[in-house]
Amino acid sequence: MEAQQLLNNYSAFKVEEIKGRYLSYEMIVDYLKNLPAYFNLKIEGTSVLSENIYSIEFGNGPKKILMWSQMHGNESTTTKAVLDLLEYIVTDQNDDFKNSVLEFCTIKIILVLNPDGLKNYTRVNAKDVDLNRDASNQTQPESQLLRKVFDEFQPEYAFNLHDQRAIFSAGKQNRPATVSFLAPAYNEVRDVNEVREKAMQIIIAMNNYLQTVIPGQVGRYDDSFNINCVGDYFQNRGASTILFEAGHFANDYDREETRKYIFLSLYYGLVEIITSDYKNQNISDYDKIPENEKLFYDIIIKNAEVNGAIKDVVIQYEESLRSNRLHWLPKLQGIGDFANFFAHKTLNAKNKILRINGVKNFENETYIEEISLNNEIISIKLTNS
Ligand SMILES: [Zn+2]
Repeated sequence: MEAQQLLNNYSAFKVEEIKGRYLSYEMIVDYLKNLPAYFNLKIEGTSVLSENIYSIEFGNGPKKILMWSQMHGNESTTTKAVLDLLEYIVTDQNDDFKNSVLEFCTIKIILVLNPDGLKNYTRVNAKDVDLNRDASNQTQPESQLLRKVFDEFQPEYAFNLHDQRAIFSAGKQNRPATVSFLAPAYNEVRDVNEVREKAMQIIIAMNNYLQTVIPGQVGRYDDSFNINCVGDYFQNRGASTILFEAGHFANDYDREETRKYIFLSLYYGLVEIITSDYKNQNISDYDKIPENEKLFYDIIIKNAEVNGAIKDVVIQYEESLRSNRLHWLPKLQGIGDFANFFAHKTLNAKNKILRINGVKNFENETYIEEISLNNEIISIKLTNS
């Protein structure tokens, strides 16, 4: 189906009750428990804080695909997109996609690998370890669990699902990287073998579909090799591994728009695997996807008077969980010339005097409670989810 058609019809299969950046683990587990019987739900093990970690497996085909999301606990967008994918399969009216998935694929998904991190809204697990730097060391129960599932399931394809910060642009253009991909390297010299080539070809195909709905907003991560990163490790072990990164879309801090583009990526990734159409892609097109650059701030205030001089001021939101609600705290990130950067929101101060928290003299990295131009307060508050 065409990408735009899927977007137009999104409300028919969106798991509406699970939304925002901070998700309820209980609601996710409830959703999984209520899936039809052809989804096989299993407790694979437990987290550091003894939360159950679940997998679901479905389909009876020869193409084996392993997916895992929220290995970084504060990266929830791909989890929402996978839920929508499951709902799409459950509710698929003409049954084409559903039937070919069930006939040609066996899919195993760990929806939340790091439930302690989900609950505390942290990247790391409860022992403060980044699980994506523990692939070969295997010091944490969550890393050991993923390795066990990988060894038992022996996937041909692996989807490693993440969020990236809003700082990334797709190349050097004024375009946020709403979705980024990587076919991780499997060795130091970053060779392309048959395993990695397949991952690159699927990325090229997914990018082609995404360009029809978010032109210029797809980026590519750099491929420096680290065997302790899960993607690099699994690529090295012979599974064609793709890193998916959900990023910023205009005015969408809850990432409810981005979830749709991740859904499309997953949907077309599976379509390409089912049809093997990706094998027609030429990997020289992989390098044509622009590399991610760190060129975005959340807010740039241009031409503000700061200490008697006219400067640009850049602000970044910092996410903070307080009483089970996520807040975005604006924080000053720089004062100077930011002509070569972009922002999700740009304000022109027209040489007015900038005050932060009531004063004209402020330090970098100040948390901003109140901001004003010539004593007129400007609003930069985001609604909390
Ligand atoms: Zn991540």
